[in-house]
Amino acid sequence: MADKLLKIAIDGPAGAGKSTVAKLVALRLNYLYIDTGAMYRAITYLAIQYGYNSLDYENNIAELAEAATISLENRENRLHVFVNEQDVTDVIRSPEISALVPVISQIASVRNTLVVKQRELAVNGGVVMDGRDIGTRVLPNAEVKIFLTASVEERAKRRCLELQQKGFKVDLNELKVEISERDNIDSERKIDPLIAAKDAVMLDTSYMTIQEVVDKILELCKERL
Ligand code: C5P
Repeated sequence: MADKLLKIAIDGPAGAGKSTVAKLVALRLNYLYIDTGAMYRAITYLAIQYGYNSLDYENNIAELAEAATISLENRENRLHVFVNEQDVTDVIRSPEISALVPVISQIASVRNTLVVKQRELAVNGGVVMDGRDIGTRVLPNAEVKIFLTASVEERAKRRCLELQQKGFKVDLNELKVEISERDNIDSERKIDPLIAAKDAVMLDTSYMTIQEVVDKILELCKERL
C-alpha cells in the first residue's frame, strides 16, 4: 500500500526557520510546500499598489483579497509567488511589506478568504504548510504539527543574512525591533493569533542546525505514516 499523504503544519514567529525547514521537509517527502506568509504578503503588496496602507481601508482590502488569484509555483528549485499573474516573489520581502503585513493580516475577512484558499491547496494531503495559524485554524486535523521558536537575537541574525543574500540593505538592530513588533501584533491579535496548537511539538531551534530540525520533523512524520 502506498504511504499515506500527510498534512504537516509548521507554525512559529518570524525568522524561526519555518520556510527553510518546511522546504527541505517537502523536498525529502516529495510534498507540496505552501508558504502562507507569502499569501498575506501578496495581499499586502496589492493593498499598497491601490494606496490602501492602513486598517481604514479594511473593506477595500477584503475585496482585493477575495478577487485575487494567488499561485505558488516551483521554478528551478525556487518557490515563485504570483498575484493576479504578476511575479511578486522578491518584492513581497521588502521592509515596507514586512512592516504592513501584520496589520493587513488582522482583517478577519482577509484571513477567512486566505484560509479557504489554503485549505483547498491542502485538500489531498501531501503538503507542508508554514505560517502562524496552520495547526490551530487552517489544518486543525494535520497529522504532524510543529511549533518552531528561537530567541529574537538568533531570529534577527538569520533574517539579516537571508535579506542580505536577496540584496536588501538591512540593519540588525532595526530588524530585531521589526521582528519583535511583528511578533507582538501577531500574538496579540484577536483572530487566529500566533499560538502553538495544544498538540504541537515545540522545537526551540536556537541551538539546532537546520539538518537537525529537518531530521526531527521527518522522524515525527514516520511515526504518523
Ligand atoms: O511567514 P512570514 O514572516 O512571511 O509572514 C508574514 C506575516 O504574515 C506574519 O508576520 C503575519 O502577520 C502574517 N501571517 C499570518 N498568518 C499566517 C502566515 C502569515 O497572519 N498563516
